[in-house]
Amino acid sequence: MIIHKIALNGFRNYEWETADFSSGTNVITGENAQGKTNLLEAVYLLSSGKSFRTRFDRELVGFDFSEAEILAEVFSHEREQSIRIRMSPGQAKRITVNGVRKTAAELSETVNTVLFCPDDLNLIKDGAAVRRKMMDQAISQIRPKYAALLTEFNRLYEHKTRILKDWREKPSLLDTLDSFSDALCRISAQMIRYRASYMSRLNEAVKPIHADFSGKGEEIELLYHTVSTVKDPFAPAKEIYYDICDHQERHRQAELDSAQCLTGAHKDDIEILINHRSARSFASQGQTRTAALSVKLAEREIILQETGEYPILLLDDVLSELDEKRQEFVLNRIGGGQTLITCCEDTDISGRTGGKVFSINGGRIRECT
Ligand code: ATP
Ligand code: MG
Repeated sequence: MIIHKIALNGFRNYEWETADFSSGTNVITGENAQGKTNLLEAVYLLSSGKSFRTRFDRELVGFDFSEAEILAEVFSHEREQSIRIRMSPGQAKRITVNGVRKTAAELSETVNTVLFCPDDLNLIKDGAAVRRKMMDQAISQIRPKYAALLTEFNRLYEHKTRILKDWREKPSLLDTLDSFSDALCRISAQMIRYRASYMSRLNEAVKPIHADFSGKGEEIELLYHTVSTVKDPFAPAKEIYYDICDHQERHRQAELDSAQCLTGAHKDDIEILINHRSARSFASQGQTRTAALSVKLAEREIILQETGEYPILLLDDVLSELDEKRQEFVLNRIGGGQTLITCCEDTDISGRTGGKVFSINGGRIRECT
């Protein structure tokens, strides 16, 4: 998948700007607060209909504008396609692909991206929420049905949490608690199947990448952990559901006492082992960064397997955080596919990539020759 051209109109700090990208590596440089991440955010929006920084469209619309628009020409699924996203505060996004109305979730059927930003460097050391988010974003891109399950799960989860917090003041709320718990168990069972199957593929895909990237043939392993009573996360959803219900029954009282949902897919985690030891406990900073990047590159391989095309790789500000050897790996050994890399002007990448270099200044994009 290649983005040839983007036009931004009233998006963040871009009044009206266009850029023509190389189908290989594109380096986007500029001082702080000039619009580098904003540009990547726009490309990310084309694949998911969402920002990776905010839930609110009003933040995406330029301060002096009433509407923002992103237009793009992409090559994907073996043809040229055009995507248009318009957003105004307080209104749903209006999205078209080749002139046909689409939902945000449907955008992933046209173009996919894999984003790697400084926060992701902590994928291994941070709390489980970060790893679940990585898993959710990755699966949602290739399985729109999963994205819908996740939305429904979050809605039910919020509702149940409110019941658990308020039932003492309003005991009648308890009448509906069990039906919310049951619905959450049902959705969790389906999500767990998707996650188990995705994580097993990711585990296979990450091994050769990490062995190569670490340069020392380090062995990595990703283990998916879910609700403790689930005996087989690959089993039919019905079986998983019964196992989760078991956990739910045993934790019902504890949920009422603690005012927290204790059973469900929101507790899942991924354990990452490097050379058979927990990376979270034992890996060095360099090792965990390498592992995090390997996981993201593995995500890219899975999209390739699914669609026959590499997704667009978006690397925001990570180059300066990596040492020379890892920079070299990123710049020269990520074969195939298009990459957009942002970095500060002082990061010396000139002459190290074959593609284009852009300089961004106050929301203006200049192609450097
Ligand atoms: P850094 O190197 O610090 O990461 P950057 O070039 O990635 O910088 P961006 O995050 O892309 O910076 O852009 C930040 C700039 O965009 C800020 O100056 C911010 O005020 C501006 N900005 C953000 N949202 C809007 C908006 N809705 N309208 C206008 N300007 C905005
Ligand atoms: Mg930035």
